Amino acid sequence: MKEPNLTDYARLYQHFDWQNERTQLAGLPDGKGLNIAHEAVDRHASGNLKNTVALRFIRKNGSTDDYTYGDLKTRTSKFANLLQSLGLEEGDRVFSLLGRVPDLYIAALGSLKFKAVFCPLFSVFGPEPIFQRLSKGDAKVLVTNTAFYEKKIKGLLDRLPALNYILLTDSPQHLDEKVLSLTKLMGEASGEFSIPPTDPEDPALLHFTSGTTGMPKGALHVHQAVLTHYSTGKYVLDFHEGDIFWCTADPGWVTGTSYGIIAPLVNGVTSIVDEEEFDGLRWYSILEKQKVNVWYTAPTAIRRLMRMEIVPKEKYDLSKLRLVLSVGEPLHAGAVIWGQKAFGVPVLDNWWQTETGGIMIANYSSMEVKPGSMGKPLPGIIAAIADVEGQEIKIYDQPGMQGHLVLKKGFPSLFRGYLHEEERYKKCFKGDWYITGDLAKKDADGYFWFIGRADDIIKTSGHMVGPFEVESTLMKHPAVAEAAVIGKPEPSIGELVKAFVVLKEGFEPTDGMQLELIGFARKTMGPAVAPKEITFIDSLPKTKSGKILRRLLKARELGLPEGDLSTLEKS
Ligand code: AMP
Repeated sequence: MKEPNLTDYARLYQHFDWQNERTQLAGLPDGKGLNIAHEAVDRHASGNLKNTVALRFIRKNGSTDDYTYGDLKTRTSKFANLLQSLGLEEGDRVFSLLGRVPDLYIAALGSLKFKAVFCPLFSVFGPEPIFQRLSKGDAKVLVTNTAFYEKKIKGLLDRLPALNYILLTDSPQHLDEKVLSLTKLMGEASGEFSIPPTDPEDPALLHFTSGTTGMPKGALHVHQAVLTHYSTGKYVLDFHEGDIFWCTADPGWVTGTSYGIIAPLVNGVTSIVDEEEFDGLRWYSILEKQKVNVWYTAPTAIRRLMRMEIVPKEKYDLSKLRLVLSVGEPLHAGAVIWGQKAFGVPVLDNWWQTETGGIMIANYSSMEVKPGSMGKPLPGIIAAIADVEGQEIKIYDQPGMQGHLVLKKGFPSLFRGYLHEEERYKKCFKGDWYITGDLAKKDADGYFWFIGRADDIIKTSGHMVGPFEVESTLMKHPAVAEAAVIGKPEPSIGELVKAFVVLKEGFEPTDGMQLELIGFARKTMGPAVAPKEITFIDSLPKTKSGKILRRLLKARELGLPEGDLSTLEKS
């Protein structure tokens, strides 16, 4: 077993210094600044990782396509050169609408080299959400394929006058002066590109994240976010030389960019990209066949794997798997424990969000795992629980108090703005603190426990109830596959706790089952917090990144407007 990079959390936390972390990266030659693509690709390609596989794509048919750090350097330089030949300027925005195929990764890193701002979109978006994002993001270039172009983009062009070029990955010829063949342009471009001086504060990435009801917000990140990617790769994902890493997220969600592209490359490991969507058996065989050492996935996938009721460790050789990590939603304690049985290692939960650009709170392999907790802040990150309602923020120093989860400003990957929405951005800060919009508590040992999105909290009979604690309880019942909990207005008690439950196969949605689940929850949680109503449904509405959309269940229950549904996964 390899010794973890982080062995003594308390010590590292005390002595950690971002400046020191900066010295572990190369920086552009001749002191010309810090550029993500240089740290992720060029410096390795000029050193002894030149022939190491940087990205291994697993195509839908199971065949693989490898790109070494050397290959990536040449291809991303070509992409940067072609942006130059198209007359782009630094800071211009390049979007992609692609599945998890090599061109997406090359476009991302090539754009960063050129110092364009890169924005990956989920390929499953329909025309309207694509339009909203391209127009709000002032897209100059879109990289996509012919099918998506024909089906989703062509009809939008009249409304997108600022979109200068569409680059088609699979067209051998240019279609007209605006719709060009990427293959042809790449063929003509030089494979040598010298990255221009890059200020660490230069913009690099744009990630759209859905507001609760409003339009999606575009969170802007800068090049020095790479310090967080590097350091979380080292201490949370625990990258070691020669590691094979697999992040299952799509780059259309921030996790698929920060950890599906940047962090593994900056740390010089080999990263697996599966072009196919979720498929439990396929996933287990990838873990086995690719000898994956570190695996980063999400609670929604883990819940689906748990439902398959196979113990992968018994059927597959997972002896190389050292770490399994999860992000995106609360991970209930049962999943952490299941991981131990299924993989031989617990599933380590960690917390962050689009705005923070990288992991902020985590369970570390060398630290005691408290199932159900998000863990402790990354060295270099100051997290606290606070009351944010007054003029000044009030930090709670007593353990166990519930409040807003806040982060001290000043870490490298914190977003630098919501594009074109200065007011919305300013509202996220009070004094020195960034207000995350999540509620949590911190225990006496310094572990953080998620309570819920501030918007999702239920106020019932004078109690503040986080949906997650009720959902976790319901999930302990053998019949429950998934649960989502909302507050439903009820004059006498404020809100009543209502649960939507997906049953496991073999269980019937009867009145008796309803009573049994309510009784089970009352016994475990007490009558004040247990759900008073339960509705059975076939599946829960989720975002494309796999998060349960509680606000949508609530809107439907109350007959209210459903708000922005662009990230809703069609089931
Ligand atoms: P996004 O910006 O789309 O990645 O969403 C970020 C939000 O997802 C956070 O603010 C949390 O509400 C939720 N989230 C992410 N990771 C976790 C976690 N480990 N536990 C609980 N909630 C999480």
